[in-house]
Amino acid sequence: MSFTVPNDNLDKEECPLAVIKCIDFRFRESDQEFIEKGLGFKDFDLYAWPGSAKDVLKNNGFKTDFIDKLVSVSKNLHSVKKLLLLWHWDCGAYGGSKSFSSVEEEESTYLKDIRTVRDMMVSELPDDLEIIMAYSKRMPQGLEYIILE
Ligand SMILES: [Zn+2]
Repeated sequence: MSFTVPNDNLDKEECPLAVIKCIDFRFRESDQEFIEKGLGFKDFDLYAWPGSAKDVLKNNGFKTDFIDKLVSVSKNLHSVKKLLLLWHWDCGAYGGSKSFSSVEEEESTYLKDIRTVRDMMVSELPDDLEIIMAYSKRMPQGLEYIILE
């Protein structure tokens, strides 16, 4: 048995963006739409891991391997120019929203961690790889994506 899928991307050689995001299935389609329509990137190398790049905070082999692949594959092979660090509301890697005492505490924890991860990575990444940080949170209409300064 086989299944064929049309694909007009196979001869492309360059990709503008790499993304690291959480594996959480609830966010996959929305994240794709945010990256395409909100940020304007159709193509991106995708790194998915529980908690996005949270494990960089452990300053262990995860960070080393992630940075190595970003440089050797995404940057050197695919000519990626930007890296998006994407966190999300109610992340299971943090125990979910229920493990925080308030919406504000949850959001401030994610935002602090994104910035710390950025700071830990920026010194080890090439100067011409720009880091973008974003976070999604639940609103009555759906998910709101906030791009950090
Ligand atoms: Zn998550």
